[in-house]
Amino acid sequence: MKLYNLLLTACAVCLLACQPALAKQIKIGMAVDDLRLERWQKDRDIFVRQAESLGASVFVQSANGNEETQMSQIENMINRGVDVLVIIPYNGQVLANVIAEAKQEGIKVLAYDRMINNADVDFYISFDNERVGELQAHSLVTRVAQGNYFLMGGSPVDNNAKLFRAGQMKVLQPLIDSGKIHIVGDQWADGWLPENALKIMENALTANNNHIDAVVASNDATAGGAIQALAAQGLAGKVAISGQDADLAAIKRIQQGTQTMTVYKPIKQLATEAAEIAVQLGQGETPKSNAKLNNGLKDIPAWLLTPIAVDNTNIASTVIADGFHSQAELK
Ligand code: BGC
Repeated sequence: MKLYNLLLTACAVCLLACQPALAKQIKIGMAVDDLRLERWQKDRDIFVRQAESLGASVFVQSANGNEETQMSQIENMINRGVDVLVIIPYNGQVLANVIAEAKQEGIKVLAYDRMINNADVDFYISFDNERVGELQAHSLVTRVAQGNYFLMGGSPVDNNAKLFRAGQMKVLQPLIDSGKIHIVGDQWADGWLPENALKIMENALTANNNHIDAVVASNDATAGGAIQALAAQGLAGKVAISGQDADLAAIKRIQQGTQTMTVYKPIKQLATEAAEIAVQLGQGETPKSNAKLNNGLKDIPAWLLTPIAVDNTNIASTVIADGFHSQAELK
């Protein structure tokens, strides 16, 4: 027992000694749009682990896709006296006022993955989101060089959804202009929810007598919903369809042949670097940037990471090699 106590004390001393000494403990409030989606749970877990290992404390809340809930959660974080707000906005258009309040209290604001428009944001970290859209469209046009394309956009209030679409159109527009590709429909799935994508796809199939050759789905959640509608018509695997996030379910669909591709964004890198940036902001330091994005109010310094296209040929060398999914999970 004595030895056990001694060991416990030794461990506690070591833990204290091993914690990086921050001049004061940085308090971070992390406001997540929607923890119901697989990808954001990963972001949260990695971010919190890294921020805590840097000696910061993190308070996380999920708005579950509700604009008012997210605003009141942010207010609550301001009242708790956080030093830094890390926000994954549900609606990137409506947070200017609450962010102005935060800035009055001297709180730093990091827009995580999604830009917050017209607001006094200090820093933005994300992937090159136009590139994501280009990868999606490129993969589809190499398989379906001509035919009827349906555009399944993401949440209309997520700035990223527009960037993905802009990237997709860079690839598609010349083929539309030359008459090879016909856009037979263009819809946006509220909240990125699979059930909304399912309904949109059912209606699109009906309206086009099932004559759809490719679906430009902007992420795996919406691709999942669309594939359910395709399957009901016996079309799963016959219609090319893109995705994004390398969700486990999507990788399985790629292996089974019902989804054409996904875009893998190394979340570990994003969340780890975001935690480092959040702590730097809390300490009054200026994080390193590699881009600037105008959010309607000003140019926001940004750190943008590189997305990777994944199809049936490179699952092992990307998501598995990175430990994003294990081989066992995929069996
Ligand atoms: C993210 C995607 C995600 C989507 C839905 C976007 O802003 O960049 O990775 O699939 O939101 O949560």
